[in-house]
Amino acid sequence: MTENENYTKFASVLFDVSIDKPLDYAIPNEMLPNIKPGVRVEAPLRGKNSPGYIIAIKDRPDFTPVKPIAKVASETAIITSELFELAIWMAKYYCTPLRQVLKIIIPASIRTDTKPKQQLFVMRTKTKEELQEICQSIRNKNSSQADVLDVMLNVKKGILLTELLEKAKTTRSPVDSLVKKGCLVMDIVRIDRSPLVNEQYFKTRPKPLNSDQKIALEKIVKSIESHQFETHLIHGVTGSGKTEIYLQAIEKTLQAGKGAIVLVPEISLTAQTIERFRSRFEGNIAILHHKLSAGERNDEWNRIQRGEARIVIGARSAIFSPVKDLGIIVVDEEHENSYKQSDEMPCYHARDIAVMRGKLSKAVVVLGSATPSLESYFNAMKKKYTLSTLTNRADTARMPAVSIVDMKKEFEKAKGFTSFSEKLIDGIKKRHDIGEQTILFLNRRGYHTTFFCQECGRPVKCEHCDATLTFHLNDNSLSCHLCGFTIAPPPKICKICHSPKQLKFKGVGTEQIEKALHAILPDIRTIRIDADTTRHKGSHSKLFRAFGTGKADVLIGTQMIAKGLHFPQVTLVGVLNSDASLNIPDYKSSETVFQLITQVAGRAGRGNVHGEVIVQTLMPENTTIQSASKQDYEKFYEEEIASRQLFQYPPHAQLIKISFSGKDDLKTRGNAESLRSFIIPKLPAEYNIHPVIPSGHAKVKDKFRYQFLIQGPNTLPVNAVLISALQALHIPSSIKIKIDVNPISTYF
Ligand code: ADP
Ligand code: ZN
Ligand code: ZN
Repeated sequence: MTENENYTKFASVLFDVSIDKPLDYAIPNEMLPNIKPGVRVEAPLRGKNSPGYIIAIKDRPDFTPVKPIAKVASETAIITSELFELAIWMAKYYCTPLRQVLKIIIPASIRTDTKPKQQLFVMRTKTKEELQEICQSIRNKNSSQADVLDVMLNVKKGILLTELLEKAKTTRSPVDSLVKKGCLVMDIVRIDRSPLVNEQYFKTRPKPLNSDQKIALEKIVKSIESHQFETHLIHGVTGSGKTEIYLQAIEKTLQAGKGAIVLVPEISLTAQTIERFRSRFEGNIAILHHKLSAGERNDEWNRIQRGEARIVIGARSAIFSPVKDLGIIVVDEEHENSYKQSDEMPCYHARDIAVMRGKLSKAVVVLGSATPSLESYFNAMKKKYTLSTLTNRADTARMPAVSIVDMKKEFEKAKGFTSFSEKLIDGIKKRHDIGEQTILFLNRRGYHTTFFCQECGRPVKCEHCDATLTFHLNDNSLSCHLCGFTIAPPPKICKICHSPKQLKFKGVGTEQIEKALHAILPDIRTIRIDADTTRHKGSHSKLFRAFGTGKADVLIGTQMIAKGLHFPQVTLVGVLNSDASLNIPDYKSSETVFQLITQVAGRAGRGNVHGEVIVQTLMPENTTIQSASKQDYEKFYEEEIASRQLFQYPPHAQLIKISFSGKDDLKTRGNAESLRSFIIPKLPAEYNIHPVIPSGHAKVKDKFRYQFLIQGPNTLPVNAVLISALQALHIPSSIKIKIDVNPISTYF
């Protein structure tokens, strides 16, 4: 043990391993110039040197005697003080240990900082089908190996060991066992860092803005020039020129010597969006998406940190990129659910982080959407955000004409179920005859959704989840969309009642729509885009390109086709089951349906020809469907905000969802109950603590799931109570707890 008198400065170190409290160490004099918050160090812990971060410098340690820091492991802080501050806020707001928050903010490849060219790479040695089988057979006996296989089933060629361990949330030993069993191989590889494809871009110039755009841009520029934090909300229909405003605002930001972050939903990180930014700003851009290898991510991170890339475009985690002198943050399609991380803690929302980061960096935040989230519009109404509205399309295109078709009447006419109304079929035919295109949108994938017994009415369910299986025609199989469990070929009779009656299909999927359409209109060429047809790298953009260049008359797809794309030849959009989500018991389902119809409708008539939208529904009188078909956001907002007020849902109140999952049904439920009972007396009366209920999917991958909601004015006091409750209760580690602050779904 060293004498503390030899040292003048001390530091709190937060370790990567799971100790949530930072520990104090002495700073040896020769290290003093290099030590500051955010620097990586190694320090002695339980007999060996462990890596961690400096989180604070102090004159006196909290306890004595202290050991000295062993090594400085990064030349500079690998995280700026501003991002560090953001991390600390996130830890508090999202009720997540700081260590876990930092893992999200700093990519594994930067954090581990081993020579990145010499990492271990893990690949499959068996086919996916074989691995799937193994995975199911070991799920109960050896869940950590099954977790590893779950990840391996979803990677393309392979994955870095560091990434694999992080994704599977496990240690190296199950991976080693799987290698021994011959399921996986591990190899030292030189990470493939494909240099940026040297594409030539047509440099575009800023367009002269129309008056609405000008007013919006002027407000933003005023904030940029005043170097003050301010959040702007641009509410503008699809095609109203929001992106053009972003581009010009970013240009002003660069001229002021500052950098930019642009968030887009993963789904719109397509060539189309990226091209628009590249063709305006050329090499000044870094693009972050989930398909980057660790090496590529590392390179992009370094380019950003060195200031070589002043503009970062990416999906939700790009909000953490280390842009220096951040001047503007743009969140396009701010209402998108993909900005929220829901599957693990911290359950953060990138739009909310954007606003907080803007505040900490004194940057301007611009949120844009055709259908702003209720929360953001509410903030604009309360003058917390500055609202700009774009009422018309920017180019020559006009707003499409929308009509609602009552499908109950169509069923009567057709004397049974039909997926297509007469009006829609006529419309598709007419477009085909004059060389225009149609998009058909369906909120489901698979051929038929379920396979059910005609005697007892029960659907065929997954053996591992509380979910019905979906039929897929191309491989004649039933599969679970939650865990991948597959039965091929589908069973002929019911396993539960053993009735001799054959099982029947129910529900409609994209695959069946395509087939049914060919049966009615054999000359029509179709392209289908959904999770099934886009499994391979590049298939997504290949299919879009094929449609864009006229290789098909009709594009059929799921939400993947709803947004962000520009096809001038599309003049008709059909929404086949517009009300599907209204049946989900969730306070957000009306908002989801409104957004979906509006976004899909925005795909029609973007060229010179007037577009048409046909919305098929079983609930033609529903007010959400009505205001969506009129594209009347204000009306929708007024109705919805009143109902949120009535039931005290966000934005009028805040919600926390606490979920529990575990293999033992009773134990999982019991622990949920004990946490709930523990916190009830500790929270003020204005908090409403809902009862424990099974989650919407009550079982997933053989784990039972329970949850309860806390509803109240402010989440921070609840977080403090939760943390102390979890410390006091010692819930076994076999039960996973997830705290989701302002969840996007209260049902699943
Ligand atoms: P949004 O982002 O709101 O969907 P975009 O910025 O993509 O809208 O604009 C839609 C189309 O209109 C694009 O083709 C764009 O180039 C064009 N556009 C945008 N602003 C103008 C303008 N002021 N004058 C002419 N065309 C414009
Ligand atoms: Zn049956
Ligand atoms: Zn399943």
